[in-house]
Amino acid sequence: MKGGWIPMTKYNQAPAFYILFGFACLCRLCSLPPEQSQESDKRLEEIHRLDGVIDQLGTEGVLVSPLRTLRYFDQQVRLYNEQGREDVGFAQAFVNAAQLVIANSDLARGRIFAERAASIWKTTLGGDSTQAIKHAALAEDPSKYELYGVSMKWKTKVDEVPQGLEPSNFEDWLWRREKPKALGQLANLRSRATFPGFINLPDENDVDPEFYKRSNTGIYRPQRHWCFLGEIVDFATLLRLQMEIKDIDGTTIPLYFYTDSRGSELVPAQVQKGYTVAILYAERHAFMSFELGIRHEDPRMIKIFPLSLHKLLALNDQVQQFSTELNGIRMCHGCGKKAASLQRCGKCSSFWYCNRACQVAGWNEKGHKADCKLLKDPDLRGLFVFKWDEFDNHIRFPLDAAKDS
Ligand SMILES: [Zn+2]
Ligand SMILES: [Zn+2]
Ligand SMILES: [Zn+2]
Repeated sequence: MKGGWIPMTKYNQAPAFYILFGFACLCRLCSLPPEQSQESDKRLEEIHRLDGVIDQLGTEGVLVSPLRTLRYFDQQVRLYNEQGREDVGFAQAFVNAAQLVIANSDLARGRIFAERAASIWKTTLGGDSTQAIKHAALAEDPSKYELYGVSMKWKTKVDEVPQGLEPSNFEDWLWRREKPKALGQLANLRSRATFPGFINLPDENDVDPEFYKRSNTGIYRPQRHWCFLGEIVDFATLLRLQMEIKDIDGTTIPLYFYTDSRGSELVPAQVQKGYTVAILYAERHAFMSFELGIRHEDPRMIKIFPLSLHKLLALNDQVQQFSTELNGIRMCHGCGKKAASLQRCGKCSSFWYCNRACQVAGWNEKGHKADCKLLKDPDLRGLFVFKWDEFDNHIRFPLDAAKDS
């Protein structure tokens, strides 16, 4: 199927994306003579501009930063929808989205994109057109696409489609859109985008544009925030401090301290089995022995919290339930009542109560005594209140996000 989906009309030399995907721009702008193009409206110009961006990304856009590429197709489809015209470019955007997700092993979304493409081809070219038939077949069995599985990044089974979602929520799922956070909502430590497992950390030797951007001085630096969490399973100091860390997936990896003080900068009381390490902007590193792990260099990038990863996640779930504000309403941690006029725990600022009696109940019966002490640490509270999705500059410990919240 490679190169054969659409006759190539415009490109004299095939760009990478074309070679991979058989993709050529079919938007109206591209098929118009230049004089008329200038009169075309803003939407088509934007669609066309996105074509160019996608082209430039090439195979990298497919395999290395597929989410960014999917955003562009999403944007193109929205523009076509606003345009209210079902044309070949519209169908092609779905074809491209289908191929993108299937190449990344996402059969569930691949089928839906292929179905949509087939349906538009049917309307525009007719049900017996090659395009309509070809894409109906692709929807039938998306794994037949020849680039299926070149990356395993988004692996899904073909029937792993969420049921019973509102249409707009379904579109959010389909296009992998991150929901904008409601005001008063806190970071969820279970979010793998922000708190990835070891397997999803960027590899230090291959510059993943989802994580890094090249600076003016030619150095690649993180262009977003992420934080690795892992529990200390074991530790020893030979030449330097080294730890065995278990991540959220249960994967155990070595963490070696290549700081100037080789790990002695940590207070011994902090270094304990069963405690949880948080490492900002962690990368996968291949050690001389070919062992994969984390090489830790900057002391400000690490923080150890005195609780297990399991307990940290349990605390996270409590925080999600009781600290989050929705339309001015919060839930009392003592009795579970929802109200606008609750008072917050003055020690940790994270839990809310109807009155003194509810606070006592929360403290004694619902474990807030221990949690409150943990949450008084501005770094732990910072994990929740920091806006991980917004990137201005790099952060380090101590986090000062908790100061003004
Ligand atoms: Zn174009
Ligand atoms: Zn209450
Ligand atoms: Zn408290």
